[in-house]
Amino acid sequence: MKTIGLLGGMSWESTELYYRLINQGIKARLGGLHSARIALVSVDFQEIEELQRTGDWEQSGAALAQTARQVQAAGADFLLLCTNTMHKVAPQIEAAIDIPFLHLADATAQRIRAEGLQTVGLLGTAFTMEQDFYRGRLAHHGLEVLVPPEADRRIVHRVIYEELVLGEVNPASRAEYLRIIDALAARGAQGVIEGCTEIGMLVQQEHTDTPLFDTTAIHAQAAVERALA
Ligand code: GLU
Repeated sequence: MKTIGLLGGMSWESTELYYRLINQGIKARLGGLHSARIALVSVDFQEIEELQRTGDWEQSGAALAQTARQVQAAGADFLLLCTNTMHKVAPQIEAAIDIPFLHLADATAQRIRAEGLQTVGLLGTAFTMEQDFYRGRLAHHGLEVLVPPEADRRIVHRVIYEELVLGEVNPASRAEYLRIIDALAARGAQGVIEGCTEIGMLVQQEHTDTPLFDTTAIHAQAAVERALA
């Protein structure tokens, strides 16, 4: 079994999910007392969030590149960056390491294509919903990506930073997300990407008939498969 490298802490609430899902995945595949080999380095999210807010992607990219080297030095055979948003600086991270980088948008797009869908809604931080580093990567896989209108994007973004990364799961916010998911489906989305690693804490498949693609679960599953390949 290969050692899975995790660059986490963005937020730790979702990194905890990665840790659990990956171990559950290895256990499901190998049985017995098997668990995953993991090398994890977790950052202080306050520092990263400040750099996001001030738009200093150069600095956050340098910080995460340095952290990625620590994960590699800890023995990881490949690396997962446990946040969609910070894939904005994926090129800086990839350039800093010698091990393969398992890109979250690639894993997600491959899953969606495998299920035969082409038009999908995308929920995530404003950075993820609005900028090309993520949407463009999905489009490159042949997906048509719909995002909510601006007022709803603001709601989705606010709930992530004011509730979910703090571990708060609020039923009123779930109702707002479900309204936004319904609106995306009404515009033609065949499914919706939960493109922020904390959204799965708030909205699960049992809450809606629209197929959901939880990026945390998809990324964790891709890691398990790669570790056992
Ligand atoms: N975990 C979130 C994501 O997947 C947001 C936190 C962050 O800004 O990194 O985008």
